[in-house]
Amino acid sequence: MSDDTRSTADLDAVVVGAGPNGLAAAVTLARAGLRVRVYERADQAGGGAATKELTLPGYRHDVCSAVHPLAFESRFFREFGLRERVKFVTPEISFAHPLDGGRAGIAYHDLNRTREMLGRDGGAYERLMRPLVERSTAVAEFTGGPLLRVPRDPVTALAFGLRALEQGSPLWNVRFGDDVAPAMLTGVAAHTILSQPSLAAAGAGLALHAYAHARGWPIPVGGSQAIIDAMVDDLRAHEGELVLGHEVASLRELPRARVTLLDVTPRALVRMAGDAMPPRYRRPLEQFRYGGGVAKVDFALSEPVPWAEPEIRRAGTVHVGGTRAEIADAENDVNRGRLPERPYVLVSQPSLFDPSRAPAGTHTLWTYTHVPARSPVDRQEAVIRQIERFAPGFRDTILATSSRSAVDVERHNPNYPGGDIGAGAPTLWQMLRRPVLSSDPWHTPIPGVYLASASASPGPGVHGLAGWFAARSALRHDFGTRALPDLSPHG
Ligand SMILES: Cc1cc2nc3c(=O)[nH]c(=O)nc-3n(C[C@H](O)[C@H](O)[C@H](O)COP(=O)(O)OP(=O)(O)OC[C@H]3O[C@@H](n4cnc5c(N)ncnc54)[C@H](O)[C@@H]3O)c2cc1C
Repeated sequence: MSDDTRSTADLDAVVVGAGPNGLAAAVTLARAGLRVRVYERADQAGGGAATKELTLPGYRHDVCSAVHPLAFESRFFREFGLRERVKFVTPEISFAHPLDGGRAGIAYHDLNRTREMLGRDGGAYERLMRPLVERSTAVAEFTGGPLLRVPRDPVTALAFGLRALEQGSPLWNVRFGDDVAPAMLTGVAAHTILSQPSLAAAGAGLALHAYAHARGWPIPVGGSQAIIDAMVDDLRAHEGELVLGHEVASLRELPRARVTLLDVTPRALVRMAGDAMPPRYRRPLEQFRYGGGVAKVDFALSEPVPWAEPEIRRAGTVHVGGTRAEIADAENDVNRGRLPERPYVLVSQPSLFDPSRAPAGTHTLWTYTHVPARSPVDRQEAVIRQIERFAPGFRDTILATSSRSAVDVERHNPNYPGGDIGAGAPTLWQMLRRPVLSSDPWHTPIPGVYLASASASPGPGVHGLAGWFAARSALRHDFGTRALPDLSPHG
């Protein structure tokens, strides 16, 4: 489908890439009254938030992202009124963490209930989490922008920093006596694909962990695509255009417009800009590091996963991989370029909460596992084995699978180089300079050109913030306005 109908002379802004950040930028600019056109290489908008039938007809799978605590905490999506536009379900159990012997850690949305479940470590867990849970909005504000700035709530920033220092160091077990709470904490910190323990992994993990007990880990009814559809609808309602199936190779081929916002990686920005890029800016972009990769396996199932601990059957997300030490070993293997024998596997069970994902009585299961960057290896069997370990009989429930290696993940979306779904390793240094050390890292030195992707601050996740910040920077620099356009559904 193409809306490529309007005369290019009319354009104020061109956006390349219709992922959540590209669309956040496009919506913000269109709401400011500008004429916007978005080019997307795929035949469907969404990037890392698309939903498709990957296995069998009638089974709808999230191609990339599935679970959306960051969307709930995002200031952009709050302004956009996402929760008025898209129906979400928030599971009572944000995530579960199975351990051998039929045991499990259960992160209830309710922190008190989680404390009780943890028994003698419950108090220590509560003291770690409660200050962050009660101030989750301040945590989201602090982590949802360039880290090099004075936080609005320094008390929360300090509480957060001290906890990240503890959980990101060899002292990470100091407050715990059992293995359940430490496993739960590492299960979340491992989302980053970083070595364990590390400060950056602990920081990202603690923020996600706090959201699990604050607003929960929600799932959109119909799949992540529902978030994208709401943004595309708003864009079109404000005269914006979306051109699908159009890959942009160079800035020179774009129609004339006052600003260009790019939902691409620094590597792609260098290529697209060519000679137009000053060498002093090219250097840091070329030094930008991409992280480990993921291999993804989606399942169509005849019934829910038969977890040994029945409470896990009520969890939205499950972190599979065993104890803290086991997950750390697996993640450290990945960071040394080795395929772990017993990998860490992220699992989402959306059809337990949203029957629209699969034909009546049957289910979908979303999983991925970390692998070294650029790994061509199919990890379907390793993922099945790990799930079987905690859910005997799982193999017999499988109707069909769709498996993608890290190489396939990049082929599907060039924003994930080598299968790095973070579009750049979220190390501490790269979270400080994302992609450059600046209080306005979206603004490039090429006149009118902005970087609006997860490779720019505040990094990975479906929050739209990089796009929103990039659009605000463009409005300020190129259109002389500091006013924030009204993004609300009724605006
Ligand atoms: C397997 C997986 C699981 C994930 N799970 C979660 C999760 O549960 N929750 C969460 O919050 N996040 C998750 N993420 C991360 C999240 O999806 C990304 O951080 C987010 O989508 C980044 O948004 P973006 O707009 O910057 O980039 P993307 O979503 O990657 O979108 C970029 C878009 O630009 C297009 N594009 C790129 N280059 C060009 C070009 N030259 N011309 C035209 N179009 C171009 C691409 O086709 C793509 O559509 C996951 C990602 C993956 C892959």
